[in-house]
Amino acid sequence: MMNYETIAELLYPHITKTPADVEASFSARNLPEGAKVTRLAPSPTGFMHFGTLFPALVNERLAHQSGGVFFLRIEDTDAKREVKGAEEDLINTLAYYHINFDEGAVSGGDNGIYGPYRQSKRADIYQVFAKDLIKKGLAYPSFTSEEEYELLKDVDKKTEIKNKEWSAEEVAKAKEAMLAARAITEDEVRDNLAKGNPFVIRIMANGDPEKKTPFTDLVRGKLEIPENDEDFVLLKSDGIPTYHFAHAVDDHLMGATHVIRGEEWLPSLAKHIMLFQYLGFRLPKYLHISQLMKMEGTSKKKLSKRDKGAALSDYKADGYPAESVIEYVMTLLNSNYEDWRRANPSLEYTEFPFSIKKMSVSGSLFDYDKLNDVSKNVISLMTADKVYTDVTAWAAEYDKELYKALSSDETYAKKIFAIGRGGKKPRKDFAVWRDVKPYLSFFYDDLFVQEDEIPENFDKTDIKKALDLFMLMYDPQDDNNAWFEAIKRIADEIGYASDMKAYKQNPALYKGNVADVSMFLRVAVTGKMNSPDLYEVMKILGYERTINRIHKAIMQYV
Ligand code: GLU
Repeated sequence: MMNYETIAELLYPHITKTPADVEASFSARNLPEGAKVTRLAPSPTGFMHFGTLFPALVNERLAHQSGGVFFLRIEDTDAKREVKGAEEDLINTLAYYHINFDEGAVSGGDNGIYGPYRQSKRADIYQVFAKDLIKKGLAYPSFTSEEEYELLKDVDKKTEIKNKEWSAEEVAKAKEAMLAARAITEDEVRDNLAKGNPFVIRIMANGDPEKKTPFTDLVRGKLEIPENDEDFVLLKSDGIPTYHFAHAVDDHLMGATHVIRGEEWLPSLAKHIMLFQYLGFRLPKYLHISQLMKMEGTSKKKLSKRDKGAALSDYKADGYPAESVIEYVMTLLNSNYEDWRRANPSLEYTEFPFSIKKMSVSGSLFDYDKLNDVSKNVISLMTADKVYTDVTAWAAEYDKELYKALSSDETYAKKIFAIGRGGKKPRKDFAVWRDVKPYLSFFYDDLFVQEDEIPENFDKTDIKKALDLFMLMYDPQDDNNAWFEAIKRIADEIGYASDMKAYKQNPALYKGNVADVSMFLRVAVTGKMNSPDLYEVMKILGYERTINRIHKAIMQYV
């Protein structure tokens, strides 16, 4: 005769607490009506994926927008997949992207009273609930040899048998063993424990997949979930829970009202619904975020781990400001975000009324061009001081030469970054901090490169004469107008049109025009055909550097 109580005691003699005892040590959260409690629950199993920012932001926005709580739980139950340093990286990376948690795991410890916030530290808690389920006949121990265990895992997953070629006979035997395990007796448990046989705890599934449970996902709407009939594992042989079991226990005890996670968890929902029911917990609301996709040829594909753009660390190395990446993710998360941004260019993204209704069911498409556009815009709205600080910090790590140049004269560098900034139509020169060096190298003699030459079709004597004249006429005290007047006079002197209108009406009358004269000067001073406003450039470079550059250019024509 099976005695669930005794079996539970035999398996977990050291667990003396009841679920009620555990519940009592987690007080109910005292929050205003409608406040959402959300969490990010990453596993420290490798580098951080760009996709993690999606649930991170949705969870964060929904919690904070509703006056709720957002916490970080580290799901480190899979020791085999754990990667050294991954947890530290998670915590630091989330902080770098300003994903602010109210409570949860922090470096080297916990912040909050609903912890421990690392699942590896909660083994006793899970065992209390598992023991209780066993007592109630809702879960049972399954003793298996390592080999049987592997087979059962395959059978469990209902995947094709991939670990080994199992014969039909073996599978049938394993299934039989599984059924027998459901009816395990006290004596069998005693016997197995005495032999030191490992066991897992399985749920006693009573579902019928022919029957469907109505379910509402917050983005996907009404769904029908076939009931679960799989005796999936709750506790592994080391007493550590599977994701499913830990999710139910933790989100209940930690008071999560909303579970917002990737859509890869959607197929597990039937299991979770069953667990919450068996455990007598109220089911949280669920929101499954669509996978991030990329275009490959003409078809959409999942952005996988190995794809460019998948690793968050790449964004930092390339020099995307955290603000740009977040801004881009926001545009992908809410379809009306970009309109809002156009209407509110200077507001923080946190002021945007984030809405679940504006989330897309089909996967967002990852697109570098779009990210770059967004980033250019974000950077164009930063102050020169902020740009200086961020670029310098980036360069300290990724470009020592640039770092040296920028930090050698802060005031000078800030003047460079101030060009075209602050007005109605700010310049959009950078998408990433990597773009900074080629843009400003000509401001530094050490970094100067002659990228472009004055086109061959211009008469060398004209060029030399124009540059000579500028040397004579350049007065650093001149305002923009006076400066340009001087250039026009030079144009007249060398037989180029100083009036663009006149030139356009009759180009054959002239050898060139005032824009060409400016170009001579630009190439001489900056080494490029394109640069920011030349008057500004000369002002920042200063009289001496400007004149030296022009002098050097003239020397080519003597
Ligand atoms: N540890 C799970 C993951 O990293 C968490 C899913 C969830 O948010 O519940 O995918």
